[in-house]
Amino acid sequence: MAYQALYRVWRPQTFGDVVGQEAITTTLRNAVATRQVSHAYLFTGPRGTGKTSCSKILAKAVNCLHPQAGEPCNQCEICQAITEGSLNDVIEIDAASNNGVEQIRDIRDKVKYAPTRAEYKVYIIDEVHMLSTGAFNALLKTLEEPPAKVIFILATTEPQKIPATIISRTQRFDFRRIDASTILQRLQFILKDKKLAYDEQALRLIAQAAEGGMRDALSILDQALSLGNDQLSLENALQVTGALDKQQLETYFQAVIQANPAQALENLHQLLASGRSAMRFTDAIIELCRDLLLVKTDDQLLDEFDRSLVSAKILAAKDQLKQQQLYKMIDAASKTQQDLHNATHTTIYLEVLTVKLCEIMQADPTASKAQTPVDNKKLQTLQTEIEQLKQQIQKLSASPSPTPKKARPVKAHVKTNGQAIHVDQQKINQILAQATRQALNQVREVWPDLMSMLSVTQKAVMKVSKPVAASSQGVVVAFDYAMWFERVMSNQEMLDMLKDNLDKLLQNDADVVIVAAEDWPQIRKNFLQNHELNQQPSEKKASPPENPAVVEAKKLFDSEIIEYKKD
Ligand SMILES: [Zn+2]
Repeated sequence: MAYQALYRVWRPQTFGDVVGQEAITTTLRNAVATRQVSHAYLFTGPRGTGKTSCSKILAKAVNCLHPQAGEPCNQCEICQAITEGSLNDVIEIDAASNNGVEQIRDIRDKVKYAPTRAEYKVYIIDEVHMLSTGAFNALLKTLEEPPAKVIFILATTEPQKIPATIISRTQRFDFRRIDASTILQRLQFILKDKKLAYDEQALRLIAQAAEGGMRDALSILDQALSLGNDQLSLENALQVTGALDKQQLETYFQAVIQANPAQALENLHQLLASGRSAMRFTDAIIELCRDLLLVKTDDQLLDEFDRSLVSAKILAAKDQLKQQQLYKMIDAASKTQQDLHNATHTTIYLEVLTVKLCEIMQADPTASKAQTPVDNKKLQTLQTEIEQLKQQIQKLSASPSPTPKKARPVKAHVKTNGQAIHVDQQKINQILAQATRQALNQVREVWPDLMSMLSVTQKAVMKVSKPVAASSQGVVVAFDYAMWFERVMSNQEMLDMLKDNLDKLLQNDADVVIVAAEDWPQIRKNFLQNHELNQQPSEKKASPPENPAVVEAKKLFDSEIIEYKKD
């Protein structure tokens, strides 16, 4: 037998089978049992919540030859014909593909003919909100003079698009999203019935990802099972749902709670590197904040199901967070989500969000009372930084797609917006010509002191940097992420501050030159080539062909490259 999708195999065949809509199914069952069926129904609700299933069950129940307390028997010829979709008296119309007035007129013409085999003619119009105005008018005429023995079932995900005149002529049932624990129970039931092994955590993840739709839950389960050869592992569930690895998200959120933007940004880049989408990421942030708000308000509000998805570590962090901060975080994440809809450069929006979230933690009102001047200053710096990032975003969205990395010119760093930043190769060459291991070690020694002289945000930015070469002339500092290099490069105040403080610590007058780590190998190559070109022809012939500075630099680079890779 060909493979059948789970949601087809497990489509409910009786009202009792329908999961999570007890109020609706009980009402419908009673209506059938007491023969008080209405001539028109409106089923509204999110996709996959049981609207179509209930329509078909109702069509069967009213026509079944041996109904039992309002339920269809699913055995008689009528029930079986409806299940197969071969009974002419049950007509299914998908308004999404049949929105013309002609089709509805056709219904009007045929509706007056009595059912052929069954007792009732049942019209099921799916996605009814897609009908044109003309079609709605035609439908309204039919509903105004309902023929005997005809039942209309209109189903829609968007009831607000249906004319009030239509709604008022129907009996309306709002199908709710099915709560995750109900979905979970159903999934467990199905897997046990199929005798398939499953990871409990994976099943919970699927139940949550389905967002209240049973059909979606079963489709996700189907996909995850096929990935794992009929075994459900957490890894497969994560892959199919595109959900974030919980642990990665927690690490990120803890960095946010500690108002440590550099760490949080590093975690963010790891998350994105593992292929998680920007939307899923913001979703997860909002969910996490929501859960924390719930436990803060009342420990009982977070039900056992949700609790199992949030780690104890994160829940324990609730005391470090104020309600107001959580609301602000949710706001910031939702705004980012809106921005993401039209964005091509999604990463930068998430970076801005990350800095904002840290800012929210930083701007703790009680903490700032104790040390107002300092915190206000920090806050201002953060706000300036955000402004700069915003401007960068504006530039990004105004400019065409970024220049591919390989097309980079030799002497300039190409910014993400395609604009070139001049890297002072000459100054770098001067530093490298005199560079020694000793000088570099000296700089590394004072580096932590230098960091302690910076503001919180400056420190955050510098955390992704490290000194890579030094001489008495100056220091070369490389940044792991091009974005941060660009920001520091355009911030003269910060560059001056680095130089001044470094001069104080080293007690000399050394230049600070910054580079993007990804450009660094090319810059070093330039230096070596440059030195060979500058050599006099006579020198070239001389037996030690290499300039001592080049020899020294090469030695330095070799050891440095190894060290760099280790990090
Ligand atoms: Zn039957």
